[in-house]
Amino acid sequence: MGFDPGQRTCGRGVYNRRMQANVKAASAVEERIAALAGQCVKCGLCLPHCPTYRLAASEAESPRGRIAFAQALAQGKLDPSPSVLVHLDNCLACMACERVCPSKVQYGELITTTRAWLCDTAPVSRHARTLGWLVARPRLLGALLRVANWPVVRSVVRSHAMQVLLRPFGLDRALAELPRLPRVQVASSQGLASPRGRVGLFLGCVAASVDRDVHAAATRLLRALGYEVVVPHGQGCCGALALHNGDMTQATSLGDVLRAVFGDVGVDTVLVSASGCFGTLRDHMFADSGIRVREIHEFIAADSRVDVLRFRALPERIAVHTPCTQRNVAGAEGAIARLLARIPQLQAEPLPASPGCCGAAGDYFLRHPQTADMLRTQTLDVALVQSPQTLVTSNVGCRVFLGNGLHERQAQTQITHPLVLLASQLEN
Ligand code: SF4
Ligand code: SF4
Repeated sequence: MGFDPGQRTCGRGVYNRRMQANVKAASAVEERIAALAGQCVKCGLCLPHCPTYRLAASEAESPRGRIAFAQALAQGKLDPSPSVLVHLDNCLACMACERVCPSKVQYGELITTTRAWLCDTAPVSRHARTLGWLVARPRLLGALLRVANWPVVRSVVRSHAMQVLLRPFGLDRALAELPRLPRVQVASSQGLASPRGRVGLFLGCVAASVDRDVHAAATRLLRALGYEVVVPHGQGCCGALALHNGDMTQATSLGDVLRAVFGDVGVDTVLVSASGCFGTLRDHMFADSGIRVREIHEFIAADSRVDVLRFRALPERIAVHTPCTQRNVAGAEGAIARLLARIPQLQAEPLPASPGCCGAAGDYFLRHPQTADMLRTQTLDVALVQSPQTLVTSNVGCRVFLGNGLHERQAQTQITHPLVLLASQLEN
């Protein structure tokens, strides 16, 4: 099919001439992109850390290549053709490049700004529109996930015939990777007699249903430390998916909701148990709001009363997967290791840093199934070398995606979140 210059594709959407007019008018944004890209000295030290570069061995699939594309586009030296935009779209936003860059290139801001600049007036694909609509409605999303997980419904929606039927709507992959819902004992909501403080707990969109066990575990651990845990109604998505897709309108509206609901309950600290949500909440949604966003493992490990937590022994070997957002954005892998070390007899082995991303990466696994599946295969290959009883990971997307991979392999290894493991061994 020939390329129509009046219709530009950007991985998820179709662009028209109106977008070009808006692009030309956005000179301040262009200058910002060019300035961010100008920080790159093209040393190439980030290349070996980039999962897509390692897979493709191509400069265009590297951080340096994407920075050069963004710079040339912003300076009007390059036309935003599909063959260029695909390389920006292929970025996992894992931020491994930003973490290792000696020149402190702000790659996260660069890719987010570039995607928004290229996409904010474009019509979005049906898949992205449906997902964007659903993540803003966690209750409805939860109800749909519950129905889809009834055993009969689950086997029907994941059947080959249904996959073929849903392929034209872009829903076949989403249903093939349908999250399983945990069985959960609801955490006590009884007030503490004299709490040491009040903290807010962020639930998320998919995680509000899929990580219910994590939220119950978090509540249990925090209450054992003496905190009152406030879970405001009406929370929505953290906005990471919207930012991944350059949809600043939705990201802004989700941020307004989050600041309002947590502001209404009067907490000054919001705790986050999914590393994929943490950076967006800290750097975008609650930035300059007066509400502090903390990574929950780091918060618990740093608590002055952490020694009051007593854990039963667990004579098991587990593998610890560090999500790229945990390593490169939240930076709490040390806190997770310190907390797990409090469980007597537990052997917790961290996975090697490579491949760096499991492939889930927000909705990346839906948009780029081949790359995502390759990264998942590599991650599980290293995770299962020692045949651990359990694999722990601190991000909801990684847990679902790797969990489905384990299920496909019929592996005996279970997957869970570090907080669930900690709470299951908690004595007090
Ligand atoms: S992003 Fe940083 S590490 Fe990568 S090439 Fe540019 S300056 Fe070097
Ligand atoms: S964010 Fe990750 S995938 Fe994207 S360029 Fe940087 S290292 Fe590569």
